[in-house]
Amino acid sequence: MKGGWWPRLAMRVIASTALALLLLPPSIAWGAETPKFKPGFNLFKVQQEVQLGKENAEQVDKEFPLLTDPQVLRYMNELGRRLASFAPNNYSEYAWTFKVMNSSDINAFALPGGYIYVNRGAIVAAENEAQIAGVMAHESGHVVMRHGTHEISQAVLARVPLAILGGFLDQTGSLTAQLAEMGLNLGLNSILLRNSRSAESQADEVGTYILYQAGFDPHAMAQFFEIVERKYPEKTIQFFSDHPIPENRIRAVDNEIPQLGPAKQWKTDSPDFVATKERLLSLPAPPTTTPAPPAPAGSSGPPPLPSSRLIRFEGKGFSIDYPDNWRVQQNEDAVAFVPLGGIVEEAESGSAQAYGTSISRFHPQASRQGNWGLVDATQELLDTIRLSNPNLRVIKQGGLKLEGRAAVSTLLETDSPLPGQKERDLLVTTRQGDSLFSLLFIAPESVFDAYKQTFAAMLESLDLQ
Ligand SMILES: [Zn+2]
Repeated sequence: MKGGWWPRLAMRVIASTALALLLLPPSIAWGAETPKFKPGFNLFKVQQEVQLGKENAEQVDKEFPLLTDPQVLRYMNELGRRLASFAPNNYSEYAWTFKVMNSSDINAFALPGGYIYVNRGAIVAAENEAQIAGVMAHESGHVVMRHGTHEISQAVLARVPLAILGGFLDQTGSLTAQLAEMGLNLGLNSILLRNSRSAESQADEVGTYILYQAGFDPHAMAQFFEIVERKYPEKTIQFFSDHPIPENRIRAVDNEIPQLGPAKQWKTDSPDFVATKERLLSLPAPPTTTPAPPAPAGSSGPPPLPSSRLIRFEGKGFSIDYPDNWRVQQNEDAVAFVPLGGIVEEAESGSAQAYGTSISRFHPQASRQGNWGLVDATQELLDTIRLSNPNLRVIKQGGLKLEGRAAVSTLLETDSPLPGQKERDLLVTTRQGDSLFSLLFIAPESVFDAYKQTFAAMLESLDLQ
């Protein structure tokens, strides 16, 4: 792990205040003629956003099987560009490139700057042109509302508050690499594609607007999402892990449509769509071992990444935020916050936590003699942990302030309960009365970076009584 991600709490407070001021709720007012879609706070210039999208699209193209059939690609790009021409906040720099993943999974995603990927399975699942147009219009909504770079901007600001002064990225060189240096790893399982529910609602609104403007039945987008749920329940989890379901999606869309303007003779299908679907069905079946994008929840793969939406946990003598897709497990003197699949059952030693956060109180031996020091007590705790983790190794230790209290942070390496993997842990300890209050942030070494932001947000949210 690179140095420097150590939570600098004072700076974080400034960042949060700046965020609170800047991230006023995105206002979307529907007027009869000119709906106003306002993208959220963003540190990226449009041209940088396109560059970032391009860098990541090149990566995706290398890693995933794409369909190369010219007939299908021509159709998708013509349809996609026609839809994009009706999108609000549409900058001329946007690439509007539509590619088809050769996968039977029902999915679609958008990278910043207009690089949109639609799975072959989604096209086949659509019952008419308006429905696949709905999916593409929804993804175009993510693009023009700049959701990917908005999320990154918030994360950047939390790390480098001065980024607000502008020019935070070098104009030359890879933006992806520059962001990685700040501890922001992009890629398919990352922040770049992790849409919040509110982003989903916005993409729905924009998508519905685009459909209407382009002359398609504006109900088709929400209809498609319903079809996926009803007809392909086994594929639902996967689709909606990228696109969490906004509350009352259908009703929200139905409510918007009358405000878009008068009902028209809406288009639902076209001979081109029928021909494209036939073409796809006639091509050799997609490879079965496609490296799936985000692992579906409940599978035996790694847990889904932590949600950026946090909820509050009120514990004994403390409270803290944790991701809303994690669960809380409590016993008398410890609380564990665990993603689905974050506990591993081991044959000999029972269950062990491989991902998440564990909070506990430790009573140092020295506390019986009254006076004890934080560093010594932390050492005693480490010795205790080492009893069950013999390969525990301290990588780095340092001091920090936690709500004005002295605290010690210790970065650790040990064996993961996952076979053959190393684990990274960040232990943060501080004094609370007679005991040592400790937070242990846990993830396999290979993915620790992807959890850092969540861990830092949890630590920042800690309230100790
Ligand atoms: Zn979406």
